[in-house]
Amino acid sequence: MHTKRATIHTLGCRLNQAESGLIADQLAAAGYVITPWGEAADLGIIHTCTVTREADAKSRQMVRQFIRANPGARTVVIGCYAETDAEAVARIPGVDLVLGNRDKLDLARHLDALEEKRADAAGGTCLRPSASARQAPAVRGPRVLRARAGREPFTVPWVAEAPAVTRRMNLKIQDGCDFMCSFCAIPFARGRSRSREFDDLVSEAQCLVRRGAKEIVLSGINVGDYSFEDRNLIDVVDALNRIEALARVRLASIELTTIPDGMLERMADPNHRLVPFLHVPLQSGSDRILAAMRRNYTRAEYLALVRRAADTVPDIGIGADILTGFPGETDADFEDSFALLRESPVCFTHVFKYSERRNAAASRLPEKPDPAAAAIRSERLRELGAAKLRAFQERHLGRTVEVLFEGGTGMTWRGHLGNYLEVAVRSPQDMTNRLCRVVLDGIDGELMAGKLL
Ligand code: SF4
Repeated sequence: MHTKRATIHTLGCRLNQAESGLIADQLAAAGYVITPWGEAADLGIIHTCTVTREADAKSRQMVRQFIRANPGARTVVIGCYAETDAEAVARIPGVDLVLGNRDKLDLARHLDALEEKRADAAGGTCLRPSASARQAPAVRGPRVLRARAGREPFTVPWVAEAPAVTRRMNLKIQDGCDFMCSFCAIPFARGRSRSREFDDLVSEAQCLVRRGAKEIVLSGINVGDYSFEDRNLIDVVDALNRIEALARVRLASIELTTIPDGMLERMADPNHRLVPFLHVPLQSGSDRILAAMRRNYTRAEYLALVRRAADTVPDIGIGADILTGFPGETDADFEDSFALLRESPVCFTHVFKYSERRNAAASRLPEKPDPAAAAIRSERLRELGAAKLRAFQERHLGRTVEVLFEGGTGMTWRGHLGNYLEVAVRSPQDMTNRLCRVVLDGIDGELMAGKLL
């Protein structure tokens, strides 16, 4: 009998990756063999992103690429771009199924429905993103906002008897966002903030560890907003800390104003599994632009928080996203961002250019973005970011550290420290998913070089 092969391509954030992992487990339980993206498959899932216009284009490109390479296969497009622009996705010839964010974790059932429809009629079937766009209330204005639809806690259909894992695993704990930053379309794609039931996420974490995971990343759109009954993010971190065979717990990106009391102290505690890593989006160092973005902090508050983190947690790795070219951003605003980054202890910098998003409030601002200025500003920030990373790496030269290896090819194996510095070593042995002591003795761009002890 022909074995069915499924392949998944994931664009975008860690939450998409966490959800793709759940979908892969469901497909494996349904009898599919999961093949790497690029190999022939009977079913292709393209898990899309809509964070920028480039992400939309990349999503469409990956859909077309799969259809071209796999004529006759079923093509299913899911995720944020499928949610916000289902029509554009459905117009691509060869697409069989379009599922928004609310439906995608029920993929197996929708595939069954697709088979039935295929038996009934020739040609493609487009299941439109059903409820989630309608439940993303801010799209509809204040009336729905008051209704606070879609805020119910959720569980996730995880599969207990899934295959072993040998990599860092993302655990979905939260979805959606209430913050409505003016440049961001995510609340329209993901809906209001809601949290996963506590026991459900702890059970899946225990299962992931039984399957071999040594590191779990707590993932969501706004993880600091986690709230289920009387539990918050600290309770989640502490619950995972009690899982004996788990080596590391990591926070995905977290908003400055949502970091709970006690989080930094846990990172600083060598007996706690929470690693010393904090990714706090900055977006701009100009108070004027932060206000226009509807971010709810000032540059001084950002600087104070990251400095406190660096003072409290030895060798913490701090990451920041910075957006350039927001409508109305002047040279002086940009210099504020540049100066803040230079003065801060941030060592991982992610720079991206403003991209106008349908529905997002900034698209209605009278000032228009200046792409040429944004490109120059992005380059300057990237250069500064590279210098800051280099300085952080140099501080680690000669030290003995613990590295969790994620994989490699042939003789070279790559992994991360708890603070997210990336390291490569040479070894004839397969180092995948091993936690080893390494002496750091070199720097090669974004990588540190080391020797196994
Ligand atoms: S906090 Fe702001 S930028 Fe982040 S997902 Fe929510 S609305 Fe978007």
